[in-house]
Parts: sequence; C-alpha cells; structure tokens
Amino acid sequence: MKIARFSTGDELRYGIVEGLPAGESCPSGESGGRLIVLRGDPLYTPPEATGEIVPLDEVRLVSPVIPRSKVIGIGKNYAAHAAEMGGAAPDEPIVFLKPNTAVIGPDAPIVLPPWSRQVHHEGELAVVIGSPAKNVDAADAGRVILGYTVADDVSARDPRGGDAVRAKAFDTSCPLGPWIEIPEPGSDGAFDPSCAAIRTRVDGAVVQEGTTADMITPVPELIALVSRIFTLLPGDVILTGTPAGVGEIRAGQRVEVGVEGIGRFSNPVVRR
Ligand code: MG
Repeated sequence: MKIARFSTGDELRYGIVEGLPAGESCPSGESGGRLIVLRGDPLYTPPEATGEIVPLDEVRLVSPVIPRSKVIGIGKNYAAHAAEMGGAAPDEPIVFLKPNTAVIGPDAPIVLPPWSRQVHHEGELAVVIGSPAKNVDAADAGRVILGYTVADDVSARDPRGGDAVRAKAFDTSCPLGPWIEIPEPGSDGAFDPSCAAIRTRVDGAVVQEGTTADMITPVPELIALVSRIFTLLPGDVILTGTPAGVGEIRAGQRVEVGVEGIGRFSNPVVRR
C-alpha cells in the first residue's frame, strides 16, 4: 500500500495511491493514478477512506512525512561508495542527523547553500518508523517500521572546517518522496528492502545505479544500531546510505531519485 501526503489547495491530506500501471512508479501526469483520500494522519490512526477520490495529476505531492523528532543518516554503508570517497568502509556505519527543517517533498527546489561550491546528490532507501523504539533487536525491527520511502541525502562536500552538521543538515538537504510504501504481510510482490534497485538521474541521465542488496549493514541491523543510540519515535526517518556514483548537482539541473518498488520523484536545483 502506497500512502501519499498531498495538497489540492491549502490543506494537507493523505491518500492511498491506486491505479498506477504495472511498473509505473512516477507520480507524473498521464499515469492515470488516483488517490483514495483518508481521514486524519495514517501515522497515528488506521487508514479510513473519506469516500473522496482525486486524480493523482490534480494534486501537489509533498514530503510523505515531516519527522517530529529526527532524520537519522547512515554514512558509508556501501563499500563501493566508501571507496569512491577515498577509503574503506568503517567497521560500523557512520551515524548523523538531519533536522526536520531539511525535509522537502517532490518538485520543491533544492537550494544550494551560498557557502558551498560542491553539493552532491545521494539517492537512498529511507525507512519510516511507525512506533516508539529503544534497544530493538534486529529480529524485531519489522515491528517498528511503518514503511519505506525514497530520499536524496543532499550533501555539501566542502563545509567550513569539515563540519559534518553544515555538510548534511542545511535547509532542503533532505528531499523525501513520492510516498510511503507500507508492506502488507502476505501480499504478493511486497516491497523487499534487502533487494531493491536504487537509481539517481540528473537531467534524465542515470548517474547512480545500485541495489540495496549491497548494503554492508542491512535495514534490521541499522534499526538495532540506531535504536541503541536514540529513542526512535513515529515518523522518524532513517536514511540507509548511498550506493556508488555520487556527484555534483548544479543550479538549473533537475535531480531524480528512485527505488524500485516504491517510486521516484525529482527536484529542481537552484542557487539564490
Ligand atoms: Mg548519504
């Protein structure tokens, strides 16, 4: 089940995405997709349809979740990406935070920070937490996962003093979308986070292509690891690391990130 957060005016609402053709994972125009509008916030209340249905191409999708507490980033979780950054992957993945003010949705501009001349895209699988969690065992991790979405962990490579907070946490550095894929136990073709293709395109050209099968620390172990550092709250998001192929994004370009089985979305890049 795919749940989107959207607007048709001022009000933000949630809806179940239906009617996408097989293989279609793009929220754009002619897809024929529609939204079954829901009452309330499905993060906190079971999905209940209002009876209203709206065509997907008549809404503006926004970030499927705004974390109330945190976005947790994971660095160097793919050996080939660690190598392109000039080293071996660490024994344990690097953990960092992005504030919720970094989050934007599909089509919202990525604003290059004025102090950086080297900003990179990082297409990633993201996990959305569904229930409070602390010291979770990997075997129980599924219990605290609401679903999965797609992220661009936009990163400045040249922050002053090598400051990791400036590098990762600036405004618009965390595009999320296009919706949350919520696994339905027992259903055919359920999304499998351990084997999903990740693709990033810049102006339509594929620049990053990888698979979550290459993660050094897979999703259940990542949840175990981070829940030993932080209490996880509903709506928290964990970025699971980027495969190889990161590269610079420049003003005027459009960067698209996608994970097969979830969807894809894009953002224009601007400098103000
Ligand atoms: Mg990253």
